[in-house]
Amino acid sequence: MAATANEATKSNGQDNAKDYATDAAPSHASEVFHDGPYVFDNQSGGADALWICARTLIKTAAEGQLKRPENCGELPQPLLHAPYATDADSFSKVRHVVALSDVHGQFDVLVKLLRAHKVIDDNNRWALGDAHLVMTGDMFDRGHQINEVLWLMYELDKQARDAGGMLHLLMGNHEQMVLQGDLRYINERYKTSSELIGRSYDALYDRDTEIGKWLRSKHTIVKINDMLFMHGGISPDWLEKDLSISKANDLYRKHIDDERDALKADPLLSFLFFKGGPTWYRGYFKGELSESQIDALLKHFGVNHIVVGHTSQERVLGLYNNRIIAIDSSIKNGKSGELLWVEDGKLERGHYDGKREPLVSEKALPPY
Ligand code: ZN
Repeated sequence: MAATANEATKSNGQDNAKDYATDAAPSHASEVFHDGPYVFDNQSGGADALWICARTLIKTAAEGQLKRPENCGELPQPLLHAPYATDADSFSKVRHVVALSDVHGQFDVLVKLLRAHKVIDDNNRWALGDAHLVMTGDMFDRGHQINEVLWLMYELDKQARDAGGMLHLLMGNHEQMVLQGDLRYINERYKTSSELIGRSYDALYDRDTEIGKWLRSKHTIVKINDMLFMHGGISPDWLEKDLSISKANDLYRKHIDDERDALKADPLLSFLFFKGGPTWYRGYFKGELSESQIDALLKHFGVNHIVVGHTSQERVLGLYNNRIIAIDSSIKNGKSGELLWVEDGKLERGHYDGKREPLVSEKALPPY
């Protein structure tokens, strides 16, 4: 449950991940401060929306289409659509799949990229018909528009479904970290929100919140046609475990709120939730794997491609003859981004300006 605001602001251990070393979160202390809405269950069986408008906390009833209070900037006004079913985690004969990753609160880049490829229209509504959109995790941390990203995805989830399409929102290591209370990478501005609301940051997405419930219904791995999607990657160690995609997804959902020590104490959970597991693995980018190890992984899952985010690149990148596809195109830097566009089995790299070109596999591994 909610810890005190004081707990929310204290530092949480040493930063031991080298790829985070240069990513100081910018402070937005001088701006007019708006944030939210945060939607919490209340005592009467309904829900309240909390809005932070110019640093003032405002509460409204939360039902149906939310209406933002006056003088609250451009905060999202989502249409609430609980409850959430847990979807299948394997799909075939999907004609059109689009995928991107690691948005890290960069809402403006996300919207520009999705509009350029007509995934959404000018009103940010789903425009891709029966296509499937895959977001392979890490919406949280670093950036300054986390709730804008979350509510857009929340709304697209329903709109895509209504149009016969789907959004697959997969959990990344930063979703795990936030839900487990590891708050090392949150943007400074969210410490202010946390203090004003009187809940630790992780408790803003607890099981009694709309976004928290929605996120906890999602998978970590999904198979679509001949492609397997997840945040980090599947290491050869997976093949030694008694694991299936569905079992892993169930374990992630069941244990996402567990304490770190409890996860570490269980060998299978320790594999899944930490360094070598699907949300953290980086082995494809370190030259650790032989061609035959990649083949063995693909064969095990009956796929031709494994699509991953997490390890940042300048662009969408094919490795190992496009058998591994890297889709973390560094949206986190807030400047631009790319997506993977797969239509009738043809793999394309979707540029920030909406142009596409065939995905050509790199000959050498990118520097890591
Ligand atoms: Zn990551």
